Amino acid sequence: AKKSGKNRYCLYNDALGLEEVRKMELEKDLQSALENNQFYIVYQPKWNVKTNRLYGFEALLRWEHPRLGVISPAEFIPITEETGLIVPITKWILEKVCHQCITWQTQGELQPVSVNLSNRLFQSGRLKDMVQNALEKANLKPHLLELEITESMVFYDVEDIILQLDSIRALGVRISMDDFGTGYSSIGLLDRMPIDTLKLDRLFTNDLDTPRKRAIMNAIIVMADDLQLDLIAEGVENEEHIESLTQLGCYLVQGYFYGKPMKVGEINKLFFNLNDK
Ligand code: C2E
Ligand code: CA
Ligand code: CA
Ligand code: CA
Repeated sequence: AKKSGKNRYCLYNDALGLEEVRKMELEKDLQSALENNQFYIVYQPKWNVKTNRLYGFEALLRWEHPRLGVISPAEFIPITEETGLIVPITKWILEKVCHQCITWQTQGELQPVSVNLSNRLFQSGRLKDMVQNALEKANLKPHLLELEITESMVFYDVEDIILQLDSIRALGVRISMDDFGTGYSSIGLLDRMPIDTLKLDRLFTNDLDTPRKRAIMNAIIVMADDLQLDLIAEGVENEEHIESLTQLGCYLVQGYFYGKPMKVGEINKLFFNLNDK
């Protein structure tokens, strides 16, 4: 720990750490990522094991950084939430997804697509308008769009979020509770949240190897059924996962076993018999 200005600067840089430096760089580059077309959307299939048919898709965001390559949303989404960039980004996603949905719809297949939301969208106060505009622009039937929220998101401002969700749901758009079964007071919230779907977290669905865990899963399945909620298990990676889930009565799944998140071209080939230029 020595004196000169130069050295101090280096020390400061060291103290910041590689992670912070990278974060600052990403934060800067994210500012222009949208206008530079560096974002794209991948779609992961949801599958109905009972009918052995496609049950729609989840839209997941990807960022192709010009120098660093594809960066995980787990890394860059939190930054966009801090800066507020997530609001225009989600507007873009909603418009893209609605448009894509229409394209698939004209192939004779009605496939709902879900989009992930951030808490920040509710704070913007513009979410409902944003959703409505995207639907109208594409002329998409609202029930083909589902919005995924997480429990942690509704931890604050519950009343306000419920009001906003009610108004969005009044449009006919569906709401899904993502990452269910991890953290927070899920059961208490369930009574109050206007939702259509429960999405079980991967940690939960991957771990049904004891009678205790299966008993809990069974209770969730019964509850979802009584509340007339769709129940979908995410992170389904192998036959064992599917077997234990279907034995208990959960037939909607999403995970690498049925398909990774894929670009539109790949989805078109696999599910719609379409070939892109
Ligand atoms: P999430 O919403 O829980 O999305 C599921 C994540 O699990 C995705 O990671 C998906 O690729 C991954 N996954 C799917 N199937 C499997 C599987 O069988 N095994 C395993 N191990 N993982 C699986 P991804 O795409 O990296 O996204 C991570 C998170 O980033 C998402 O978690 C979501 O919270 C956030 N995110 C992604 N796209 C968006 C977006 O457009 N908007 C917002 N607000 N958040 C997004
Ligand atoms: Ca999700
Ligand atoms: Ca999830
Ligand atoms: Ca998650």
